[in-house]
Amino acid sequence: MIVRAGVLYDGTLEAPKRNVDIVVEGGTIGEIRAAGGECDLEAACVTPGLVNAHAHLEGSGEPDLMGMIAATTPAQRLLRAVANARKSIKAGVTTIRDLGSSNRIAADVRDAVEEGRIPGPRMRVAGAVLCMTGGHGWPIGRAVDSPWDARKAVREQLWGGADCIKLIATGGVLTKGAVPGVAQLTPDELEAAVDEAHRHGLRAAAHAIGTQGIKNALRAGIDSVEHGTLVDDECIELLTQRRGYLVPTLSAPTCILAHLEEGRQPQYVADKARALGDVMVANLRRAVEAGVRIAGGSDAGTPYNYHEDYAQEVELMSSLLGMTPQQALHAATNVAAELVGLHRGILTAGEPADLLLLRRDAGDDVRALRDPQLVLKGGAIQ
Ligand SMILES: [Zn+2]
Repeated sequence: MIVRAGVLYDGTLEAPKRNVDIVVEGGTIGEIRAAGGECDLEAACVTPGLVNAHAHLEGSGEPDLMGMIAATTPAQRLLRAVANARKSIKAGVTTIRDLGSSNRIAADVRDAVEEGRIPGPRMRVAGAVLCMTGGHGWPIGRAVDSPWDARKAVREQLWGGADCIKLIATGGVLTKGAVPGVAQLTPDELEAAVDEAHRHGLRAAAHAIGTQGIKNALRAGIDSVEHGTLVDDECIELLTQRRGYLVPTLSAPTCILAHLEEGRQPQYVADKARALGDVMVANLRRAVEAGVRIAGGSDAGTPYNYHEDYAQEVELMSSLLGMTPQQALHAATNVAAELVGLHRGILTAGEPADLLLLRRDAGDDVRALRDPQLVLKGGAIQ
């Protein structure tokens, strides 16, 4: 198959190529050459498929995520996750990392996609989040209360089909009583869990909003800091020194704050989101300016944060964090893909033919990523 691109962003930060043909052979990219002769598909702009490095497939943007989990059965949530996998791929998310689900739901969806039973992105999943007893995320969590318990919990996730491990280093917005600025899992619990995860070849991600928890997670050897809202200079230095990834999940607070007046979210969610919203942009911009590796991830599934809206996260990285459209696209393709670990997220020979065909140049206007003309995963039209 030959896909002709008016302009091609390959996922890197190199200058875009103009008027090229992408030759797709057996689901992977063969060569990229000057346009000429017949072609099968044609688009004004082509980019790699988007990679959402932080999502929760069982959440559909309900105003009260934890309340929804308490009020539904695992089968109901599985059905929602199946629908959300379809919405993701239709919107151009060809790879997704689920960072916490109840009842093995994300792993079952991943397996069904791989078996060809349902449409969906390539997936990596964390299983249950590992949190302190009663800590942030406990409705989708496995409580951990000592270093050895942390090791056991990692082994349980591995046994249950996890590809990566999610650790809760601080409180969070969506769990009643969990204060975002307060560290939760202790340094020795984090160290034990990260060590156990790495020994088995799994990467570890930390939910970390508060400053101390971010430092605890980084010193424990965490691979990615999720949210990172209260980063200070020392956090930024640790991130750059250790080549850690920061996944800013800008959509999560943005969507909560945009819907406060409807009054459907719990009061504690509204209060915590407001306080963090005041400082988030300035803090995260400093991390971007310091050269921290920013990977795209939206926390899709949280209130009003829909799986089909991942393009919004790319827009927010550009508008709020001062990244150019191409830098934001790079974060949401190449960088996020390297964090997820399935492929490189760039369009070059030998990589999977995961492509977005767009009607407009995404480098001129990143909103072109909304509503792609066509999505290819492994060379197949989705
Ligand atoms: Zn999350």
